[in-house]
Amino acid sequence: LQICADVGGSFVDIAIVSDEAEVLHRARSPTPIDDWDAFVALFREAQGRHGPLLPAAAAVSISLAGLIDGATGAIISANIRCLHGRALARDLEAALGRPVLINNDADCFVLAETRLGVARGHTRVFGIVLGTGVGGGLVHDGRLVTSPEGVGGEWGHGPVVTKARNDPAETPYFQCGCGQWGCLDTVGAARGIERLHRYLHGLDLDSSSITGAWERDDPQAAETMALYLDIVSGALAALLNTYRASIVPVGGGLAGSRRLVRELDAHVRQRMLRPPAAPLIVGTALGGRAGLLGAMLAVRG
Ligand SMILES: [Zn+2]
Repeated sequence: LQICADVGGSFVDIAIVSDEAEVLHRARSPTPIDDWDAFVALFREAQGRHGPLLPAAAAVSISLAGLIDGATGAIISANIRCLHGRALARDLEAALGRPVLINNDADCFVLAETRLGVARGHTRVFGIVLGTGVGGGLVHDGRLVTSPEGVGGEWGHGPVVTKARNDPAETPYFQCGCGQWGCLDTVGAARGIERLHRYLHGLDLDSSSITGAWERDDPQAAETMALYLDIVSGALAALLNTYRASIVPVGGGLAGSRRLVRELDAHVRQRMLRPPAAPLIVGTALGGRAGLLGAMLAVRG
């Protein structure tokens, strides 16, 4: 048994995960974006509840929506401001008196889908997370591909947004949380769809309203989503020509739209060299449990 947590920009899930990958006693709270003490309190409370079940040295394992610098342990998280720049593992260990291990959420997601989910049996897996922003993780021959800088698989950064084919008015370069302009991250996930919709139509809607309107064939939402699919599929097709993943599991909030997953797959395969005949981009099999399960698996290596 192990305490595992999935820390996202909107919610923190904390649960006990068994060696047989059962998720037990899962509790969900809103992420205390700006409040470190409240963040620690969530973990203190979980430890108080579950600690007696666990060996004293059992680690707390966290899947985090952010990057972890391998040398300093410092977190880069544009969305969870109380963690940004903090050596999170060290500070949380001091508060809990247990080892704390932290991995990037997309890395945890792809590991879980490869070992337990939709990508089982595949040797080349690129997992993408379309949540608040764009994340990615790579599993090659069953092992996570990581880098000391903590940015392996992060396909959302570096200026990639150029004039899209279907762009009615030339998408501008938006500024990204990483400091650059024009990153895929600025248009490629939930905040990005909202940004594109505001830019094209001057309307402030949340991403689920926009994808919902798209499902009902609303013309403005259709225009936004055509531009979205054009930009994201171009970047993803280039990446998949470079690394021929045999499956691309999609997680994050946007993966809840089956139409989005299906159309992204169709657009990407249209634009790849020698695309596979069968779908390549597929929805998650583990759903909201992938982060917790991946956190457990990441500790085992
Ligand atoms: Zn960026």
